Amino acid sequence: MGLDDFPRVDLAHLPTPLEHLPMLSKRLGGPNLWVKRDDCTGLATGGNKTRKLEFLIGDALRRKADVLVTHGAWQSNHVRQTAAAAARCGLGCEVLLEQRLPRPSDEYQVSGNVLLDRLFGARVHAVPAGTEVAAATASLVEELRRRGRSPYIIPGGGSNPIGALGYVRGARELIGQARHSNIALDHIIVASGTAGTQAGLLAGLQMCRYRASVLGIAVGERETVQQRKVQALLCRTVDLLQLSPPAAEAAQVNADYIGEGYGIPTTAMRDAVALLAGTEGILLDPVYTGKAMAGLLDLTRRQWFRQGDNVVFVHTGGTTALFAYCNAFY
Ligand SMILES: *Cc1c(COP(=O)(O)O)cnc(C)c1O
Repeated sequence: MGLDDFPRVDLAHLPTPLEHLPMLSKRLGGPNLWVKRDDCTGLATGGNKTRKLEFLIGDALRRKADVLVTHGAWQSNHVRQTAAAAARCGLGCEVLLEQRLPRPSDEYQVSGNVLLDRLFGARVHAVPAGTEVAAATASLVEELRRRGRSPYIIPGGGSNPIGALGYVRGARELIGQARHSNIALDHIIVASGTAGTQAGLLAGLQMCRYRASVLGIAVGERETVQQRKVQALLCRTVDLLQLSPPAAEAAQVNADYIGEGYGIPTTAMRDAVALLAGTEGILLDPVYTGKAMAGLLDLTRRQWFRQGDNVVFVHTGGTTALFAYCNAFY
């Protein structure tokens, strides 16, 4: 099957801009930095999950589902975008939100994404850290079926081969923009969590036969664990597209910028958020893009890139969470 044969609903404002970062490139004096503005996908303040949801909801509608079921961290961007997409498509939305932070602030509890989840009409089920999510999801699905509903389960982060198609399409879009601007992309840098974005980008590059490296900056898992997660999803995604198997070590991951753990602020993250805001007027987020940009900045300083390389940072969104993490910035 070709990419365009899969059912898809239009949710995102596409194409998102590919912007040069002249101030930051000049300041760092190394590679040419670009940003793919997937924080501007439009739906519910934007972000990378919107592209995945176009295909996931396409599949849900084909299967005649009437309610989406998903889960995430308490301040999940994925859940916020899913809740908005459900509202827009006339579907119900039931979400399990897991409390993963040890000492959450009041803002973390009520502001940012979770405020928007409620505005979009999602039914929020709070679950404690360490809950067996698969079992909790199964019992919720069973309850919905008993009430005559037809649930569709979206995995965490929307990351399965169908969701990853959103970033196969995203890669095709990015390559088109690079060609149009007459630039050859050398490196693509992206925050890597549930892995669908990185796996989809890699599958998209393979589909378009485009040579560029994709480096995932891990936000939670150790390097080998994250690398295996990306590679496994990449294999399943190219299989769905009936492409030949990817190279064995296609998934490249750096896990040096996580700090204490998922969702826990680091000094380098704060510095990166402040630098991008102050030099380019671009907002990052505390959990994903702030840490990924901290990685990009550090790798640049260590001359991991060559002078004049074209390096694209995929801005995956998440700025809504800044308000839930305001304590980290005072
Ligand atoms: C979910 C998310 C990511 C990570 O994407 P995955 O596909 O889960 O790896 C990166 N940035 C933001 C802002 C996100 O919400």
